[in-house]
Amino acid sequence: MEKMTIRDVDVKERSVIMRVDFNVPLKDGNVADDTRIRAALPTIRYALNMGAKVILLSHLGRPKGEPKPELSLRPVAERLSELLEMEIKFVDEPVGEKAKEAAQNLREGEVLLLENTRFHPGETKNDENLAREWASYADLHVNDAFGTAHRAHASNVGIAKFIPSVAGFLMEKEIKFLSKVTYNPEKPYYVILGGAKVSDKIGVINNLMRNADKILIGGAMAFTFLKALGKEVGSSKVEEDKIDLAKEILKRSESLGVKIVLPVDFVCAQELKEGVEKKIFSADEGIPEGWMGLDIGPESIKLFEKELEGSKTIVWNGPMGVFEIDDFAKGTEEIAKLVAKMTKSGATTVIGGGDSAAAINKFGLADEVSHVSTGGGASLEFLEGKDLPGIVSILDKKKSDRRLILAGNWKMHKTIREAKEFVSMLINEMKDFKEFEIIVAPPFTALSEIGEMIRETNIKLAAQNMHYEEHGAFTGEISPLMLKEVGVEYVIIGHSERRHIFKESDDIIRKKVKSALDHELIPILCVGEKLEDREKGLTFNVVERQLKEALYKLNSDEVKNIVIAYEPVWAIGTGKVARPYQAQEVHEFIRKLLSEMYGEDVAKEIRILYGGSIKPNNFLPIIAQPDIDGGLVGGASLKESFVELAKIMRSVLS
Ligand code: PEP
Repeated sequence: MEKMTIRDVDVKERSVIMRVDFNVPLKDGNVADDTRIRAALPTIRYALNMGAKVILLSHLGRPKGEPKPELSLRPVAERLSELLEMEIKFVDEPVGEKAKEAAQNLREGEVLLLENTRFHPGETKNDENLAREWASYADLHVNDAFGTAHRAHASNVGIAKFIPSVAGFLMEKEIKFLSKVTYNPEKPYYVILGGAKVSDKIGVINNLMRNADKILIGGAMAFTFLKALGKEVGSSKVEEDKIDLAKEILKRSESLGVKIVLPVDFVCAQELKEGVEKKIFSADEGIPEGWMGLDIGPESIKLFEKELEGSKTIVWNGPMGVFEIDDFAKGTEEIAKLVAKMTKSGATTVIGGGDSAAAINKFGLADEVSHVSTGGGASLEFLEGKDLPGIVSILDKKKSDRRLILAGNWKMHKTIREAKEFVSMLINEMKDFKEFEIIVAPPFTALSEIGEMIRETNIKLAAQNMHYEEHGAFTGEISPLMLKEVGVEYVIIGHSERRHIFKESDDIIRKKVKSALDHELIPILCVGEKLEDREKGLTFNVVERQLKEALYKLNSDEVKNIVIAYEPVWAIGTGKVARPYQAQEVHEFIRKLLSEMYGEDVAKEIRILYGGSIKPNNFLPIIAQPDIDGGLVGGASLKESFVELAKIMRSVLS
């Protein structure tokens, strides 16, 4: 699923709260390795160049929910200031009065770093109040901390419930490369796995085995496999309780046609120490008791080189030996060189974070592979095919077969002159928006002239109401024939103001819907619960009743031509917008109901709009929801904000 990024949103003059990964090693109160700080710079610089106010959040170490001076981010603020060559404001608390004030006083182009998020106990508990408090500091959340994506914490996941969350560039790159190798690798696809334990990698092996052509296994985990094959491994590290599992993996790989390649020799020693006596033993002759394999041997390196030939995709996770000790680093170094060589010959190569990332950095080859993941646990879980909460919480780009709609209901606003002036602005400003439908619903008096003005444009005409009869003694009413005559294509039916102020019954609404369809007008049928219904837990019941009554006796071909608008009455004109998940929940319910009534194929085609206090500052997370196919807008459709809404709608489309 493609995610929204900071590029898709307008951050000018807006406060952006950015979750970065500044979990860096410190030494003597200074940053010992600034790789992670540097990795966040492109997104920070971009936001600043675009005129945003940037508030940074990060954890550092594991302070367990209380302030620990040795884990303060103050040294990070200093290093960041040097790297960005600007002042970084720092507040010595992650949240609270001082933090809030500093966030409020921040100006465009300035950066504020708050103290270690994990000084607050609510961070790792994904505490809703803490998330809400952070969300109140900004308009938008940017998530650039891939390293914590496998954790559902308040600063990366909880906050996304309150303000829209988009990806930063680092997160975007991680998702791009890891998705490619996990779900869509170019073949042949080879995986190199290492590290100490089979148990750490079982999820990865099982998942990657579905796509990989070969799995090359090094590191201590190879001994568990060799033992499973009946080889002597001496005193090498073996997970005795995982031998059966290794046997199962070998069997499964055979049935899937995945070749498992094991090392054929090892660099062995009697002690894990620099400078001790080393010997090479082959896997076939076995490693004698008292000796342990600490690196793959020269024949294994040659074998791995041969096996990697021709690969188009390589994932490498886990070192081949104890690379931290130079005597046992050669296997890992040679594999790093091989991966770099394959990158040059056109393969996509991804290093799966943690130890292998440290190894590739140690050998100075990080720039010679396609991607080195910044997350250890996170990249492992990604490769296992798991959904990472810190990625799920980022807004998805919309990939809908349904054409979205942005409809403006002007209600009893604008004289003919005002309507014409406004529409000429819309025609000009909105002429390029061809990827979704734009509809305006002026008052009856302006319909004819507005219809003329927009006849040749991409803006369509809607009426706000109609009578179900074609003509007759219905003082004050307008018929479908009259609407057709002036170019109306859509008609809003059952708006809550009609239902509640003018006491329109379900029965009348049903007749209007049927009549609109019979006259080839597209009904925009509004449904929605009152606040008291919601408070009594009756939202779904009310919506179901209104829908079933309005659609009574309609067949699937007719229903396909209806647009539904879910408009919670408590949100209309009140400034109280439904939370994105609240709106999505009802939209999903409506689609399920339609599916039960008319079948899944019909339900998939019907567009369901959301309406209720939509404004440019709240529209993004709403329109990004999978079952929301557009907006029915009241107040914000009367001004330039309608154009803003169109821009936001465009930004979520992939
Ligand atoms: C509406 O009238 O349909 C509506 C949603 O109004 P507002 O956007 O002003 O809440």
